[in-house]
Amino acid sequence: MTAPMAYDYIVVGAGSAGCAVAAGLAERQAGSVAVIEAGPSDAHPFVKIPMALMWLMGSRRDWRFKSAPMAGVNGRRINIPRGRMVGGSGSINSMVWFRGRASDFDGWNVPGWSWADVEPAFEEVEAKITPNRLAAPHPLTDRLHRLFGGNGAAPPSPDYESAGVCHFNMRNSRRWSAADAFLRPAASDHDLTVITGRIVRRLHLDKGCAKGVILGGAGEDTVITARKGVILSAGAIGSPDLLLRSGIGPADSVTQQTVVVDGVGQNLHDHPGCGMHFAGAETGYGLTLKQAGQWLAAPLNLMRGRGPLASPTVEGAAFFNARGDGSDPDVQSHFIPFFMNHAGHRYAPGSGYFADVCVCRPKSRGRLMRRNGQLHIDLGLFKDEADLDTLTHGLFRLRSLMADAMGDAAAPEVYPAGAATSHDDMRAHVRANAGTAYHPVGTLRMGTDPDAPVTPTCDVRGVGSLWAADASLMPAVTSANTNAPAMMIGHRAASFIAA
Ligand SMILES: Cc1cc2nc3c(=O)[nH]c(=O)nc-3n(C[C@H](O)[C@H](O)[C@H](O)COP(=O)(O)OP(=O)(O)OC[C@H]3O[C@@H](n4cnc5c(N)ncnc54)[C@H](O)[C@@H]3O)c2cc1C
Repeated sequence: MTAPMAYDYIVVGAGSAGCAVAAGLAERQAGSVAVIEAGPSDAHPFVKIPMALMWLMGSRRDWRFKSAPMAGVNGRRINIPRGRMVGGSGSINSMVWFRGRASDFDGWNVPGWSWADVEPAFEEVEAKITPNRLAAPHPLTDRLHRLFGGNGAAPPSPDYESAGVCHFNMRNSRRWSAADAFLRPAASDHDLTVITGRIVRRLHLDKGCAKGVILGGAGEDTVITARKGVILSAGAIGSPDLLLRSGIGPADSVTQQTVVVDGVGQNLHDHPGCGMHFAGAETGYGLTLKQAGQWLAAPLNLMRGRGPLASPTVEGAAFFNARGDGSDPDVQSHFIPFFMNHAGHRYAPGSGYFADVCVCRPKSRGRLMRRNGQLHIDLGLFKDEADLDTLTHGLFRLRSLMADAMGDAAAPEVYPAGAATSHDDMRAHVRANAGTAYHPVGTLRMGTDPDAPVTPTCDVRGVGSLWAADASLMPAVTSANTNAPAMMIGHRAASFIAA
């Protein structure tokens, strides 16, 4: 069937926020809505099976972006996975569910986005997502709550030092993404069309207004008209890039300037993180002779919500102060009860577990731009050395916390272990090994100041009938994982756009 060539609203990107904003518009009967997604559908067993995200990363359902070489990490280019299918990055993520701290939103200082404003929106999102505690965590993950006096019932919180099994957006031990909770129900009940496998190359602009989108593909470009407007939900990399490709952005980053919006692509940041590997006979899930039976039974156990295939890899988290000085948590640790080979071999034999440290509120900022027609993604890691210091201290504290939590089940640390005993060695280790938690945000910051590319009501400044709604709007990253905040932004944006 050929898709109609005109809709009232076109949403670019069926990711975590795009699904929520499209459903919100359709439910309000604001007009016909089309969601255009570059990737395929999410109807693939690896999307549903929690552990299979490790096979989706690096596959054709991942954009597989790479950063520019960054001085802060010894000139390395790091991987930036982003989901490329219906559900977006929410279809390849670990499904850990955190709203963030109330002070994160108050600190944005954007009218309409304080904690008091966003809390009801989180509640509405959660009514559809129903996040819940992991049904059958690995016994090692169940040890985490011993830290900080927790009782194991409540999930850890970025508000205070805490550790334990996380809550997840899973149902019956399967992924339950924004596509499941928002997009499909709205598409079946309302005037909402989902178009997959078509990449939006540029915006169709006329007299300073977005009138539609231009799709690339074999042969000629296709224009799809948006009678009421276009919503950018292509994510923190895709949305600013689409503006730049349409001639909207800072003068030094676009070739054919249509509209000068200086802030586009600025303020890019992510949670910098670095891991610690532990290996010991029959500790975490791994490839050993003794665990062969467990792997053979894994498909059956998945049906019962147990075993390695039912694990979203990250099972638990801890929030703590890196220096242990009694102040608020400034780092988050993700706990993965799987043996992860530190040389990067996917199928190395062994048993063990992994934990990382990520800086909750990084100070460093980078920038996304186009240079000679190429996307240039500088995450700015450790531009501000305070982030490096916090991460370095956090790894030392993680070392002792892991020993306390695992107790008699602890496995020896195998990396960095003896290579990082002094502060200087650990700092060097972080520069040589750090990556991110895969939470890029901030490239279309919301704000009231004229330099903010997006207004508090999600309008792209300087262009009519054009809105943005995704993780790129966050002026500063929240203190934990970003999927829930991205959905909340999409959900809330729908009410502004429909109004
Ligand atoms: C591997 C991984 C693990 C993660 N783990 C967690 C976790 O456990 N918990 C958590 O809270 N967060 C996690 N995150 C982060 C979280 O998933 C993201 O912050 C969130 O999904 C971002 O939502 P978004 O709507 O901004 O962008 P996305 O969900 O990335 O959506 C953008 C969509 O736009 C589409 N698109 C882009 N450009 C175009 C174009 N030109 N034309 C058409 N379509 C386009 C993309 O294909 C994609 O579907 C993880 C992320 C990754 C990658």
